[in-house]
Amino acid sequence: RYFNLVELLQDLIDDYEIQAEEYKLNIIGDLPDEEVMIYAEPELLRQAVSNLVSNACKYTSAGGVVQVRLLVQLYWIIIQVKDNGDGIPADDLPYIFERFYRVNTKKKRDQEGFGLGLAIVNQIVRAHGGRVQVKSTIGQGTTFQIEFVRFY
Ligand code: ATP
Ligand code: MG
Repeated sequence: RYFNLVELLQDLIDDYEIQAEEYKLNIIGDLPDEEVMIYAEPELLRQAVSNLVSNACKYTSAGGVVQVRLLVQLYWIIIQVKDNGDGIPADDLPYIFERFYRVNTKKKRDQEGFGLGLAIVNQIVRAHGGRVQVKSTIGQGTTFQIEFVRFY
């Protein structure tokens, strides 16, 4: 389907407000004012971004900030989910997209999970011809980036 990605992301952010408040996190949207039309399966794309936002909330301590940005460049449409949370050790980064892979950390908030969220993100994004990138620094935070080639 052909739909407005800004609307989907704003919707998703609104849905996470309640959880963010519960976690004492600030969830911030940084979205273009104009619509950004994209060919994709909206339910799947929503699932992918939702998994990233869910992780950002899960692995960020109270008082933290989770930011969802949409960048439109000449050739790329980029969805960024950025947090200033725990970060991911460099040694673990190559494996986090594998099914059932979880980073061993001290129990903080409800960190239970199956280690499937990112494997699903990767599957969905690849099925749409896109790719996922991650940058993370321990103790500083993590940025996941979904990238799609922009078609005219
Ligand atoms: P599930 O998503 O299946 O409920 P999960 O969150 O553990 O479980 P993934 O979403 O695949 O699984 O993430 C894999 C691991 O990567 C997590 O266990 C966590 O250690 C690490 N991780 C993912 N996102 C972040 C993040 N934003 N900040 C810090 N660590 C993260
Ligand atoms: Mg997860």
